[in-house]
Amino acid sequence: MINTVYNSWCRDIAGEGLLFIAGPCSAETEEQILATAQGVKKAGGHILRAGIWKPRTRPGNFEGVGAIGLKWVQRAKQETGLLTAVEVANPNHVELALQYDIDVLWIGARTSVNPFAVQEIANALQGTDKIVLIKNPVNPDLALWIGALERIDKAGIDKIGAVHRGFSSYKKMPYRNEPLWQIPIDLKTRFPALPLINDPSHISGKHENVFDIAQTAVQLLFDGLMIETHIAPEKAWSDARQQITPDELAAMIPEFVLPKDKMFDADLLKSFKLLRKDIDDIDTELVQLLKNRQNKIEEIGRLKYKENVAIYQKERWLNILDRAKNNARENDINQKFVEQLFRLLHQESLKLQHHLFKRLKSGKK
Ligand code: PEP
Ligand code: MN
Repeated sequence: MINTVYNSWCRDIAGEGLLFIAGPCSAETEEQILATAQGVKKAGGHILRAGIWKPRTRPGNFEGVGAIGLKWVQRAKQETGLLTAVEVANPNHVELALQYDIDVLWIGARTSVNPFAVQEIANALQGTDKIVLIKNPVNPDLALWIGALERIDKAGIDKIGAVHRGFSSYKKMPYRNEPLWQIPIDLKTRFPALPLINDPSHISGKHENVFDIAQTAVQLLFDGLMIETHIAPEKAWSDARQQITPDELAAMIPEFVLPKDKMFDADLLKSFKLLRKDIDDIDTELVQLLKNRQNKIEEIGRLKYKENVAIYQKERWLNILDRAKNNARENDINQKFVEQLFRLLHQESLKLQHHLFKRLKSGKK
C-alpha cells in the first residue's frame, strides 16, 4: 500500500523547501523549450515540464509535437541540469519517454480517470526507477485517484506523487477546474508520506490567479507546485490564458510564505489544544441544535400529514433563506456559505418529512 518512503524523492530534490515543476503546457519548438528551461532554472525551479502529446477536448486543436519534442527536452536537461517531466497517456508514450531518459512521467487527468489506461501505463512502467506523478481524475472521485496511485504502486514504482489540478464542474465559478481542497487533504491524511503537488495553472485557468491558488496550496502543506510557464504566454499553442513567464515565476517563488509545521512546540501545542477544545464544544452544540431543529421538523411534519398540507412550502422556504442570509450578513459570515448550508438543511428536512409521511400513511407511529 502507498504508505512508505515516497516523500524521500521529493526531499532529495527540493530539500526542506517546496518542489517546483515549471515549463510550458506544450513543447512547441526547440528554441522555446531551451529558453523556457533557462528561465525555469534561473527562477529556482527543479523540474522542467513540457506536454509532448496533448490530450485535447476536441479534435483539430494542437495535439502536441510528438516524439521530436523529447529530443528538445533532453537537450534542455543537458544544458541546464534540470530534471525533466512529460505527460504519458499510453504504453507507447512511456516507452519513448524512457528511451529519452525523461526523469518524471506524469499521468494526466483525462487518463487517470480510466483504470484500463492506467493499468496499461503501469505495466509499461514496470521495473523503472523514474518518478511517476498521477494527476487527480477530472471528476471528483478520491477512490478513483487512489486506485490509479495503487496501480502504479503495484507496478513496483516507489517514487510516486499526486498532483491536484482541480475538478471539472458545471458550476459557474471563477476557476477553470474547481479545487475541492478537501479531496487532496483527505488523500494526504490517508497517505501522509505521499508527496502532494498542486497545479494552480489548471485550477485557475487564468495567469493572474495562479499565485493565490498556489499560496493556498502552500498553506495547506502541499509539497510542491507545478506551474505552467511559457516564454510568450499570449502566443502559446495551448492554454495561453493560464501560463506565466519565467520572469513572473522568478518573482513568484520567493513570495510564498511557508507555514512552519511547528506542532512540536509545547506552548503552541497547548494553545492549539485549548482552541480545538472550544471548537469541539461548539461542534457538539451545533449537532445538538440540529437535533432540536429536527424534532421541530418532525412535529410540523405530523401536523402537515394530519391537515393534509403539502410538505414543500415555497413561501416558507424563501423566507427561511432570506432570514438566514440576513443573519449571515449581520454576523459577518459568508452569505453564499450560509445559503448552501440552509439549502442542505432544507433538503434534509423535506426528506425527513417525506419519510415521516410514508410512515404515518402506512399506519406506523
Ligand atoms: C497539462 O498538464 O498540460 C494537462 C493536460 O493537464 P491535465 O491533465 O491536468 O488537464
Ligand atoms: Mn496545460
